[in-house]
Amino acid sequence: MKCVICNSEKLNLIKSNYKPYLDYQYEIFDCQNCQARFVSPFENKNVHEDLHKFKGNIYDLERENLNKAKYFFNNKDIKGYRKFLSKDFRY
Ligand SMILES: [Zn+2]
Repeated sequence: MKCVICNSEKLNLIKSNYKPYLDYQYEIFDCQNCQARFVSPFENKNVHEDLHKFKGNIYDLERENLNKAKYFFNNKDIKGYRKFLSKDFRY
């Protein structure tokens, strides 16, 4: 195992069995040389596809908000449009 930034092999394992989402499991390392923090495996090409395909993912919520905004816009409902866009969209 080497640092993804400087290639140093002087690493500290911060956490093993880190599961931020779904069933993907990572280890978290700190590099003693450049202090970069990174996960291993660093790249997992399947994770993005998996995160987007389940119903209720964050992108579904964005699409839903887009459709609501379009509804107000297309119906020239300025008050509704303003109220909707003033909404707090934090999740
Ligand atoms: Zn490093």
